[in-house]
Formats: sequence, C-alpha cells, structure tokens
Amino acid sequence: MATVTGVDNTNRRKFNKEEYLERAREREEQEQEARFKSKSKGPAVQRKPLKHRDFEVDLSSRLGKTQVVTPIAPLSQQAGYYCSVCECVVKDSANYLDHINGKKHQRALGMSMRVERASLQQVQERFEILKKRKVEESFSEQDLDARILKQQQEEEERKRERRERKKEKKKEKAAEENAEEEDPDVAALMGFGGFRSSKK
Ligand SMILES: [Zn+2]
Repeated sequence: MATVTGVDNTNRRKFNKEEYLERAREREEQEQEARFKSKSKGPAVQRKPLKHRDFEVDLSSRLGKTQVVTPIAPLSQQAGYYCSVCECVVKDSANYLDHINGKKHQRALGMSMRVERASLQQVQERFEILKKRKVEESFSEQDLDARILKQQQEEEERKRERRERKKEKKKEKAAEENAEEEDPDVAALMGFGGFRSSKK
C-alpha cells in the first residue's frame, strides 16, 4: 500500500498521465483509420520492373532539316521532340532522352524504376550473346592493314597536291615579276598581275 508522504503544495502543472494516454490512443486509432482509407481509395498499383528498350531511339532523323512551326499546330507537329505516350513536347534531344528514361514516362508505360535482379543464368546468357556479337563485329588484322595503307595513300595524295599548288604559285609569282620587269607600266595600269598568269 502506498503511503502518502507530504502534501503537494506546489503550483506546478501536473500531467494527468492516464488522460493523455487515452488521448494518444485515440489519435493513433484515427491515424490508422485515415491510412486505411487512403489506401482503399485506390488499390496499390503493381508496376512491372524496368525493361530493356526493344527499339532504337530516333534522335537524329530530323537533324539539319527545316520545318515551319505555327503555334496552332497540334502538339505532335510543334518544335521539339514529341512524346506520344505522355503527350508532351520536349525541346531538345538531351532532354527527350532524359524524359523517356525518366520516372514519369516509365510510369505511364506501366513500369516502376525498380530493376529486376538478374539471375546467374541470365547473366551467363547475356555474356554468350555479347561474345557472339563481338566475333561478328570484329575486324581482322588484314582489315587494319588495309585501312592503314589506304590512309597512307590518302596522305600521300594530299601532300602531292600541296606540292603542286606550291609550284604553281611559284610559277605565278615568277611570271608576275617578269612581267613587271619587262614593262612595269602595263602591269601598274592593270593593277594586278594575276590576269596574265591565269591566261597561261
Ligand atoms: Zn513520355
């Protein structure tokens, strides 16, 4: 049995623990109810994990082309990249790529941003596919030799052309000087020497 020791003669505020405990319980119940209600509003949407894109993203087909754009044109024909899934226009290719890789777009396609964990078998299969692709795409050493040879020939050709151009210029200059020496008046009258040498 508890024995009362002394009398409480302070003016401090005392907490009625039981009352507050009861209030807390009520609040918790209300919160839980609210949570349940908000959940029952729409069933939790189960979205598929991210999937590999099975098409090429076309970013460059309209590169360098001119297009007339009017403000009353439908969204799909306005300037920029149109996303038919979200029905929006993105202004440039970088942002378009960001958009189609983004959460909003993937969500519209029914995918969450979560990635499925690959199994060991899947990884091994992927390695096999990549190995095969590598063999097909790789070029032999002969190819490399041929390419080097071709490049050397092109370089040689360029050098030859440069040399010829230099020679021609020298000739022109010499002809100019000769002309000036022979009759400087005519050359001065004409104002330029190129006319004569170009006739040659
Ligand atoms: Zn989109």
